[in-house]
Amino acid sequence: MQAKLKLLVLGGGTAGWMTAALLNHHMDKQLFSVCLVESPDIGIIGVGEGSTPQLRTFFATLGIEEITWMKACNATYKNGIRFNQWTKGFSKNSYFHPFPSPTDRQTAGEFLVNCHQRQQGQTLHCDPDSYFLTAQLSEAGKGPLVAPGNPPLPLNYAYHFDSHLLGQFIRDLAVTRGVEHIQGTVAKVECEPNPAIHAIQLEDGQRLKADYFFDCSGFRSLLSQTHLQTPFIAFDDNLFNNAAVAIPTPVATAPLAQTQATALDCGWAWHIPLRNRAGNGYVYSRDFCSADEAETELRTHLGLLDSEVQAKHLQMKVGRVAQTWVGNCVAVGLSQGFIEPLEATALHIVQETIEQFISAFTAGNYTAEHRTQYNQIINARIDGIRDYIVCHYQVSNRVDTEYWRANTSNTTRSASLEQLLHVWRQGGDLTAEINRQNIAQYYPAISWYCLLAGYHHFSKALSSETATQPNEAISAHIARLVGVFSDHSTLITN
Ligand SMILES: Cc1cc2nc3c(=O)[nH]c(=O)nc-3n(C[C@H](O)[C@H](O)[C@H](O)COP(=O)(O)OP(=O)(O)OC[C@H]3O[C@@H](n4cnc5c(N)ncnc54)[C@H](O)[C@@H]3O)c2cc1C
Repeated sequence: MQAKLKLLVLGGGTAGWMTAALLNHHMDKQLFSVCLVESPDIGIIGVGEGSTPQLRTFFATLGIEEITWMKACNATYKNGIRFNQWTKGFSKNSYFHPFPSPTDRQTAGEFLVNCHQRQQGQTLHCDPDSYFLTAQLSEAGKGPLVAPGNPPLPLNYAYHFDSHLLGQFIRDLAVTRGVEHIQGTVAKVECEPNPAIHAIQLEDGQRLKADYFFDCSGFRSLLSQTHLQTPFIAFDDNLFNNAAVAIPTPVATAPLAQTQATALDCGWAWHIPLRNRAGNGYVYSRDFCSADEAETELRTHLGLLDSEVQAKHLQMKVGRVAQTWVGNCVAVGLSQGFIEPLEATALHIVQETIEQFISAFTAGNYTAEHRTQYNQIINARIDGIRDYIVCHYQVSNRVDTEYWRANTSNTTRSASLEQLLHVWRQGGDLTAEINRQNIAQYYPAISWYCLLAGYHHFSKALSSETATQPNEAISAHIARLVGVFSDHSTLITN
């Protein structure tokens, strides 16, 4: 009998365990074995508590009920993200970014038309909060599931979770299903020039050979960047944030099903409610404030100036490797790259990196035949997300600190984003441009319109941006729908 090909995952953070679980699930067990090596001495990053809706498909693929993993990980529902204070001087400086859903089709259509006509100078209501059910659900303390006895209304939603518990849950699942788990710290990597990783040696002397390696070693990027020397493309010319400070707080009695991203002086603060606590953090640029100043600003924002609660400081390396798959090594998670967590996309990219690898590897009959195309797909995905995040900074009107002036006057952007902004500012058809560029798979038109309208980024200023009222029929329709959804606090005590 032919020996099985060995797939070795290096790193036991969320990226490592997600990778091991997906490989183990999808790859033919007659042909492949999966093992994961993690250091008992080097910890995981231990942040990353918000997801996109993609995490639903991760657990559905593995056949795990939502209620099971959510309970184990202190998870809550996430209807979307509320952005606060990213603009100044308007009567409303906050908007909600929904995950587009079939249920919103009718109201979203009117929103897009209104935005387009507003760009032509017409006085029409363009506040995204008025058009999307999940925005109103969040305000009303509701979750994304209808109350028992009501017909289902399909909504796209995501989650908040404890990242340590999530990693442990996936680890237990993967190990139960056959993933070999080895504890040990890598002391030496044996590389061949072609380039390929041949084996890794652990500090205890074990030598582990494998056919394919998945580098999930975090920001160290031990195999991909350190040993294979894959170039790293930094995104620091238009994403200035390179550090974070995190402080937990007690959870509110009725936590809202939304992430909050509130702009501060040198970055923005997240607020993520879990079942047992809230995660808070400040993502900022060390070029504009020190770690101590950032911690003080976050404590002030949270009302914790006199509190003894410990803060955790983190450095961030923002950008991506030039190629995700090099030789027989695939970089996944922080080892592959990182875009600041404004839209909580890191685990989404992990999932896509592995799923796309499995389809390319399988389609190529377990060879690297489709490697070039695979790398292009992954790079385009990461760059597409980057552009959307960059847009948040460049269409803000804030000029109240040096940090914000540097961001809002920065015109360094990709050709794709340049063209999108050009079309929008000319009053052109943004949806058609998104389709022409084939980038709706990264962020659909609704997301772009919500961002641009949410930041009041209209080229023709109206005398009063409060002059327009929401369409009454739409408001009544959404209010009716809100009534049939369950309270978020009920959903997360089940
Ligand atoms: C401030 C901040 C906020 C974030 N928020 C979000 C969010 O809201 N949503 C989201 O999706 N993502 C978020 N992320 C990203 C998210 O935290 C990571 O993508 C995720 O935790 C995966 O990390 P990882 O597994 O790649 O690395 P890590 O968690 O760092 O794990 C690295 C692993 O490699 C092992 N290792 C390293 N070196 C060796 C060695 N020599 N030998 C053996 N083992 C080794 C370590 O032991 C560890 O197990 C955030 C990140 C930051 C910095």
